Amino acid sequence: MILGALALVALIASGIRMAGGEDVWVLQHLYALPALWAALGRGTTGGALVGLVASLVQSLGTFPLIERAGLSWVALDGIISLATPLTLGVTVGKLADQSRGRGIQLDALLEIQRSLAVGGPLDARLAQVAGLARRALGADRVRLVLEAGGDIPVSASAPESFWPAEAGPPASSIPCRRLELRLDAGQGPVGALILERDGDLSSGDRSRASELAAHVALAIENARLAERQRHFARDLEEKIGAATRRLRELDQAKNEFLTIASHELRTPLTALQGFSELLLTRAVPPERARRYLSHIHTEAQRLGRIVGDLLDHSRIESGRGPQLHRVPLDLAGIIEANVEIFASQHPRHRFDWSGSARVPALCADRDAVDRMLKNLLSNAIKYSPRGGRIRVEAGFAPDRPGMVEVSVEDDGVGIAAEALPRIFDPYVRVANPETATAPGLGLGLSLVRGLAHAHGGSVEVESLPGKGSRFRVLLPG
Ligand code: ADP
Repeated sequence: MILGALALVALIASGIRMAGGEDVWVLQHLYALPALWAALGRGTTGGALVGLVASLVQSLGTFPLIERAGLSWVALDGIISLATPLTLGVTVGKLADQSRGRGIQLDALLEIQRSLAVGGPLDARLAQVAGLARRALGADRVRLVLEAGGDIPVSASAPESFWPAEAGPPASSIPCRRLELRLDAGQGPVGALILERDGDLSSGDRSRASELAAHVALAIENARLAERQRHFARDLEEKIGAATRRLRELDQAKNEFLTIASHELRTPLTALQGFSELLLTRAVPPERARRYLSHIHTEAQRLGRIVGDLLDHSRIESGRGPQLHRVPLDLAGIIEANVEIFASQHPRHRFDWSGSARVPALCADRDAVDRMLKNLLSNAIKYSPRGGRIRVEAGFAPDRPGMVEVSVEDDGVGIAAEALPRIFDPYVRVANPETATAPGLGLGLSLVRGLAHAHGGSVEVESLPGKGSRFRVLLPG
């Protein structure tokens, strides 16, 4: 291009020479054209070089003309226009350089934003950003250091070998300028941009570097925000997935519950219908009639318990909670009576109850405490199908100041660890071949939990499959 511009200078010179006459003064202004062309195409260097040549060539024609024609107004215009090609070449060249530099910077910014917008760990993309910043700023070395949230900051350099983290800047014979800029997008510093150039850093370079640092800080903030959003979306997806799975499980459990509930209700009902029909239609001897009546009584009690559990459950589910009448209780007496009843009905199990000496007084709902105990005791029996020892204890909870604990421990089938968090949920029954035929609605423990919570207490379990379980009800003393 420079050669083309110089050729144009020569063309204009020969054109002017051929034209001759008075009008050549006007034609001298044409020397500005090649200077402009070179400045636009090759910046300050091109513009200055071609402008200088054009001015020199123009002077070769101007001075002889002044000699001939004297210092007229036209000659004065010729002298002034001598400097025009050089001035235009330099000025327009500078402007062209600036706009080109700005274009490069804008391209680099776009690239930086693009590379930071890609997902994945930030440090992996930082080296690319350092390379782009180095190119955009015409620096020899660039290093980016970012706070990573932890103790160790993330960093990247261009070229890669620039200042290995512990080594510090390399000693060099060429004097170099270094600029350290804070990366701050308005919400506190996120890191630093450090650049070095062998030689000088002009004030224009410095201001371009500050501008780029501000944009890099913004892009980093945006990238972090996008990363957080991606994280949040992933979390949300996982949570929704888990909630959907849980809803499906509950739905399935509810369906199973309906089947079990119908079966549970039908069993005592069938017994009631059968024995009452026998008593009504046959002449039964008194002792047999008494036995039938005792069966009817037991089954009616069972039916009553099932209906009671269902009613309590629906109260708890609807958020109304059980109605409590708190009174000072003889906790030891309640435990004793229950142990006696269960022991008499289940001779294969050995009950271990150490008595009333250490049992503290308790202010609670009598019926609720009785039902919690009955549920835990009947579970301990149901889920130790081969018989075994059932240990009942009561006292102040050693690890919960101010709480009274009642615990029921068995050496039955136990519960798998993964099922433990669910057993207090309604309708949940843990599948176990040994206890597959055990009756139940899957509501007992949920009621125990509801009643304990209503008192301001809680229920806990420890269990090992094949070894047994220990349930502990904690109530405020
Ligand atoms: P249900 O006994 O009517 O099935 P629960 O709510 O009382 O319902 O108990 C829920 C589930 O927890 C039971 O189905 C059983 O799998 C398990 N479970 C409760 N108590 C025990 C225990 N003492 N030993 C082993 N498993 C138990």
